Amino acid sequence: MARVAAEARSARERESDNLGVLEIVAKCSQCDAGLPVRAADAPAAIKCGRCGTEIPISISDGVREDRAVDRCPVCGGGDFYIRKDFDPKIGLAVVVIGALISGVFYWFGKDLVAYGILGCAALIDLVVYGRLGDVTVCYRCHSEFRGAYRRTAPGFDLHTADELELEYERKIGRR
Ligand SMILES: [Zn+2]
Ligand SMILES: [Zn+2]
Repeated sequence: MARVAAEARSARERESDNLGVLEIVAKCSQCDAGLPVRAADAPAAIKCGRCGTEIPISISDGVREDRAVDRCPVCGGGDFYIRKDFDPKIGLAVVVIGALISGVFYWFGKDLVAYGILGCAALIDLVVYGRLGDVTVCYRCHSEFRGAYRRTAPGFDLHTADELELEYERKIGRR
């Protein structure tokens, strides 16, 4: 029991230590599995837990020191975009729960209350969305970067994505 508490505490301490440490989710080039890597103590290569592919990791100084995502450690690319760190499942859950509750009120003829609840669910989604941090994503291999570094990448551009993904997939022989 005490051990569990101690472990929980040290997990929390580790978490606060992580402030200023850039976290990478490296995408396996073969099976697209997401592999978490800490930039500060990243190994020279990681092995995909799903398909066993060895993925060489080459961290730039900017990434290791959480200053800037300038070069992708997985594919070597230098093109990134920013997106909100949003889990669509959570957003959907809020809307579905809101719709269910408002359905009950609607059933009992309280349609104003029902619309109010639907509106609240949409509002909660908006607020949650607005408070989210940004995650930087590599155009080529879709690896993700989370840290305290300054976000300099532009928003997502479909045209750029098409070109760079094609180039990358040719390079690794998937097309
Ligand atoms: Zn894999
Ligand atoms: Zn990449």
